[in-house]
Amino acid sequence: MSKTAIIVGSGFGGIAAALRMKSLGYDVTLHEKLNQLGGRARVFKKSGFTFDAGPTVITAPFLFDELFKLFNKERKDYVDFIKLDPWYRFYFSSNDKVFNYSASLDETEKEIAKFNYDDVQGYRNLLKISEKIFNVGFEKLSFVPFHDFFFMIKQIPTLIKLKSYLSVFQLVSKYIKNEQIRQAFSIQPLLLGGNPLETTSIYNLIHFLERKWGVYYAMGGTGKIIRAFENLMKEEKIKIFKNSEVQRIITKNNTAVGIKIKSKEVFADKIIVNSDPAYTYKNLIDSKSNKKWTKKKIENMDYSMGLFVIYFGTKKIYKDIAHHTIWMGKRYEGLLKDIFNKRILADDFSLYLHRPTATDKSMAPKGCDCFYVLSPVPNLKNPINWKKEGKIYEKKILQALDKTILPGLIRNLKICFHMSPNDFKNEYNSLFGSGFSISPIFTQSAWFRFHNRSENFKNLYFVGAGSHPGAGVPGVISSAKVLENILRYESKEH
Ligand SMILES: Cc1cc2nc3c(=O)[nH]c(=O)nc-3n(C[C@H](O)[C@H](O)[C@H](O)COP(=O)(O)OP(=O)(O)OC[C@H]3O[C@@H](n4cnc5c(N)ncnc54)[C@H](O)[C@@H]3O)c2cc1C
Repeated sequence: MSKTAIIVGSGFGGIAAALRMKSLGYDVTLHEKLNQLGGRARVFKKSGFTFDAGPTVITAPFLFDELFKLFNKERKDYVDFIKLDPWYRFYFSSNDKVFNYSASLDETEKEIAKFNYDDVQGYRNLLKISEKIFNVGFEKLSFVPFHDFFFMIKQIPTLIKLKSYLSVFQLVSKYIKNEQIRQAFSIQPLLLGGNPLETTSIYNLIHFLERKWGVYYAMGGTGKIIRAFENLMKEEKIKIFKNSEVQRIITKNNTAVGIKIKSKEVFADKIIVNSDPAYTYKNLIDSKSNKKWTKKKIENMDYSMGLFVIYFGTKKIYKDIAHHTIWMGKRYEGLLKDIFNKRILADDFSLYLHRPTATDKSMAPKGCDCFYVLSPVPNLKNPINWKKEGKIYEKKILQALDKTILPGLIRNLKICFHMSPNDFKNEYNSLFGSGFSISPIFTQSAWFRFHNRSENFKNLYFVGAGSHPGAGVPGVISSAKVLENILRYESKEH
């Protein structure tokens, strides 16, 4: 009889786990609550437009390739990745200045010099420290399990040497003096749910990671990667159930033995959870035997910010807008404090604007442009009435874009809808509607994060944003590699 595994949730982490379990010889079944796979990487297809709901910036392509190679297949036979340039365009609304951050180091340095010549050398030094952090944080620690406290203790001297106790913003500020360039090089934690003012500077490894492998786009959108994985899973006989919400993880004598869906119980040797661990421990697992993650402890954790995302299509083409634009508002530190500490919905905002049609015309009908714009907002620890505020906030953001980089936007809209933290809570089962599970602060990273192997229940494992190493597509795909390493180690133990 073959060993069996159930995967709960089909985000990138769940899919990567399903494929890795299959390659280890398990008979794998995947259950997804929604009517399509991908989780935050699902797709909205409306009026001829294709909107990727979430991740758009693809980095570390080898992590995708590895999953196809498990079955002696090639990713490029399923989906094409192309290199983007510029990677991001920063637009500073306070003084109309533009900073192009690009694949060419020379070009990037020329752009930095437009703001402050001395910061060119500062950026070179920042890249050097970023490489050192990458060599430890990514190469050494992101694929290994962190459930052993002594392993964590052993890493501390290295982490201190790398100044991990500083925040991303503090480390960047040591090297870069110009306020706007500081902002450009410290916003990266926001892409993973962290406050640049509080997120450990380990996340500065992103600078080097981008330089090492580049920034990519998957032709057809990120959803095309999910469809490629879905095809691969079908070819490899992984059983997939959509519209299949797991209501309970069945445990017996502190061992996970199966799941409950409606009135049906299904049993397996290993249960791999890709749904938000905070939600799962709070709602799906018997709380009496759950000593480590009590409901109170879970509620008191620090959660990533919420996201307000407006998906829109226009009947005008904005040919000068780059694929990725970061639209910076007037305030930086003050705005971050409003979002993360005061948890208030401020009058101003900073935005990330995605225009896939800059690269891929197939994402919109002929003569049209496809966009989404994302604004970091407080999570639901402060319950904002999004039913009422959503429409007002949407209008404010569209007006700001109309007045600056997308003139005529409002009168050229063909379609427009949004997702608020309420939708993240209801649709993805994300506690407090957070965009990226618990936040990536030092005291919630590595050993302190939800372990990939449950502390309380045998045969229960976690992959995805809330577990080690953390949010972001490279992180969640790596979490499945951690899972594989744990299972290989456990099988040697027996
Ligand atoms: C708007 C946005 C933009 C982003 N941009 C980027 C980017 O450009 N680059 C990048 O690297 N990262 C980006 N991220 C982050 C990245 O998308 C996520 O960290 C990652 O996709 C999360 O994957 P995951 O494996 O944790 O699963 P999720 O995507 O969180 O999926 C979990 C799945 O579990 C399902 N589920 C929940 N409960 C149950 C249940 N009880 N039963 C069955 N199924 C259940 C959910 O429906 C969901 O499908 C972005 C995120 C968002 C939201």
